[in-house]
Amino acid sequence: MTTDPVRLATDMDEVRDVTVIGAGPVGMCTAFWAGMREASSRIIDSLPELGGQLTTLYPEKWVFDVPGHPRVLAKDLVEMLRVQALEQFDVPVHLNVTAETISWEGSDEDRAVVLHTDRGELRSRTVIVAGGHGAFEPKKLPGFDMTPWEGRGAYYIVGEKSVFEGKRVMIVGGGDSACDWVINLLDTASSLSLVHRREGFRAHEVTVGQVLEAAERGDVALHVPFQIKEVYGDGSVERVRLFHSEDEAHEIEVEVDAILLQLGFKTALGPLKDWGFEVIKGAIAVDQVMKTSLERVWACGDITTFDGKLKLIATGFAESAIAVAQAVHEIRPEVKIQPKYSTNTGVPGAVAGQP
Ligand SMILES: Cc1cc2nc3c(=O)[nH]c(=O)nc-3n(C[C@H](O)[C@H](O)[C@H](O)COP(=O)(O)OP(=O)(O)OC[C@H]3O[C@@H](n4cnc5c(N)ncnc54)[C@H](O)[C@@H]3O)c2cc1C
Repeated sequence: MTTDPVRLATDMDEVRDVTVIGAGPVGMCTAFWAGMREASSRIIDSLPELGGQLTTLYPEKWVFDVPGHPRVLAKDLVEMLRVQALEQFDVPVHLNVTAETISWEGSDEDRAVVLHTDRGELRSRTVIVAGGHGAFEPKKLPGFDMTPWEGRGAYYIVGEKSVFEGKRVMIVGGGDSACDWVINLLDTASSLSLVHRREGFRAHEVTVGQVLEAAERGDVALHVPFQIKEVYGDGSVERVRLFHSEDEAHEIEVEVDAILLQLGFKTALGPLKDWGFEVIKGAIAVDQVMKTSLERVWACGDITTFDGKLKLIATGFAESAIAVAQAVHEIRPEVKIQPKYSTNTGVPGAVAGQP
């Protein structure tokens, strides 16, 4: 999902109208509204994939409450947003980039917000924070360092199931996402094993039932309570040695092509909490026009809080329209806050083939 269709940006120097923090559904929608208002934008995200919670937590689940879509798979909604927002307006995307601190420089027309990221500085006239629950980071395996195998057969996020097509896949974890992936990959992987360090799973009863049924049918091998002791392979993962949690001398080896670690995600406002925002219960307080307490910074989506707040994709989309209208009006006061109807304007600056 990530790489080729998305322009993975390298240009850090250009001053753009808006930098959007977060490439979740609301961040992508923010870039869409910026394009509709003829403002230049860029998106950054600490994750290696677009889509925020939809990609990391539930790509294969149906979403039923995005109006206009009677039902849509979360990963398909991400793809449609990518096309509508990023491709249509050629928005630079900086993935694997975390915004760490913020400062301001220049005055009047040259006033810029500077985001200091772990990959360098990014300047823009405004910033819109669509950071969800904060920067996502997959939880790592306790007791075994999987880092050398990342990119060589060890995965934390599934962008496309097809990555596992015909492969021998070992899933590690005992919660909802591990069990969900067992069920989701039954028709994709050539063989499946599930490793959990404790007896018993912490997943939804129905899903656990489905996993146990699949195990009875021989469609998945359960290794419980087992833990990873060593990974072997020439260049990429080929074999995993496991040990029994209660009898470490009891070891087994399983031949696999891929290891999918599903140990949950850490989310935290992280660096954002030290920027000087008014923070209420872990969320950024905004006024009725999505303005934060920081100069030239607006926020939208799950990260915001205000009286009557709903944490939904649909309401995040609307919040982002308001935030963009305000940000553009701030830097170009002649631009009205109320947009013209797209039925009249079409898509401004449309790429070839668009009306
Ligand atoms: C299991 C589950 C099911 C759900 N089902 C529904 C549903 O049916 N309908 C519905 O409307 N909603 C649903 N939701 C909620 C929905 O997913 C959220 O409302 C939505 O994802 C919010 O979008 P967002 O873009 O604001 O934030 P997110 O999707 O959380 O994306 C925020 C992004 O910002 C990035 N980020 C944060 N801080 C930084 C930083 N400092 N630097 C760089 N990047 C940063 C994060 O890495 C993340 O990718 C569900 C949620 C879950 C967990």
